Amino acid sequence: MPAYPVMHLKTSREKSVLRRHPWIFAGSVGWMEGEPASGETVLVQDARGQSLALAAFSPESQIRGRVWTWDVNQAIDEAFFRRRLESAIQMRRSLGLERPGAAVRLVHGESDGLPGLVVDRYADFLVMQVLSAGIERWRERLGRILLDLTGAQGIYERSDVDVRHLEGLLERSGGLLGSTPPGRVEITEDGLHYAVDVRGGHKTGFYLDQRSNRHQVRKLAHDKDVLDCFCYTGGFTLNALVGGAKSVLAVDSSAEALAQAQEQVALNGLDDGRARWQEGDVFRMLRLLRDQNQQFDLIVLDPPKFAPTSVQVERAARGYKDINLLAFKLLRPGGLLVTFSCSGGVNAELFQKIVAGAALDAGLDGRIVRHLHASGDHPVGIHFPEGEYLKGLVVEVAP
Ligand code: SAH
Repeated sequence: MPAYPVMHLKTSREKSVLRRHPWIFAGSVGWMEGEPASGETVLVQDARGQSLALAAFSPESQIRGRVWTWDVNQAIDEAFFRRRLESAIQMRRSLGLERPGAAVRLVHGESDGLPGLVVDRYADFLVMQVLSAGIERWRERLGRILLDLTGAQGIYERSDVDVRHLEGLLERSGGLLGSTPPGRVEITEDGLHYAVDVRGGHKTGFYLDQRSNRHQVRKLAHDKDVLDCFCYTGGFTLNALVGGAKSVLAVDSSAEALAQAQEQVALNGLDDGRARWQEGDVFRMLRLLRDQNQQFDLIVLDPPKFAPTSVQVERAARGYKDINLLAFKLLRPGGLLVTFSCSGGVNAELFQKIVAGAALDAGLDGRIVRHLHASGDHPVGIHFPEGEYLKGLVVEVAP
């Protein structure tokens, strides 16, 4: 084993490492032996000198170390990363998700044993996000292994996210290896075609985590008047239309997103007059619709992250309460609310409480008919509860 620099933990600060949580916070680190560069592999030892893990060093981040492995006898080399990537890709293949022309998350960071790495496949192209100093150090080598394992035509990098600043890294986007994807990459999901802007769209272009929930909405939408709030490029709208919705009103504050959503409706031959589009602020739009006494049978609420971390929880809770309360008031008796939170700072229990509080304030009774989660290609590491960021509820309002 190479002699790695050593991260010495303070006394009694080894518990979370022993519990196999992959993050080592700066406050737990006593001192560094050697002078590791950003992203370099370090050996983590407790205050008595017991070796606990091998981790990537992030000198600028509050998350000072991200564990690669708890088996300190492993070498952290290309063969190690190849095994991790193979295992991640194999898991998606076993779910039947890596099909020609499909979009799938191949690597989901910590939950796949690769802290800070996201890799999504869109048909023949891979889109990679590098979110930690450790992955940054291995980025090109990881890219080459990924091309080799997937046979993709090229890898585009979308590391244009502000969390990189916390790692002392600059934002970056552009072609990494192979050919550059076109302005729109066409993918197929559940029989629908999407033209995804992998170079400029949100995240890596599309909300892959909502795949299974799009399917749910499709099954629930038949003969319903649907309101899709925060519709982005129309994932839920398209599925409501194909599921036989009577009408869909799609709302988003981004004119560009709405234009793309409309293009995708046309691409699928669903531009038959059932969909209407409204550019605007959902908080305001919901009030407007209430004042106009409009009513719906199914409402989707999929807002952006109100609370990325636990610091913003209170404000976020007020935001969720507000839109859920207004949505409940717009539902006909027996109607369905499909409501999400992707805030890391709001856990499933709190989210359910907020939604229940909103129903109470709306003077409604109801029942949760389904709990929703991110799709299967977004696994949650069993020792990494932070991996469970997306939670949703389907609430049926009492008739
Ligand atoms: N439901 C979408 C993803 C939603 S992402 C899907 O499944 O693809 C969040 C969307 O909310 C973005 O498109 C953003 O433009 C929009 N948005 C953010 N704040 C908003 C606001 N206050 N009112 C309306 N739309 C908003």
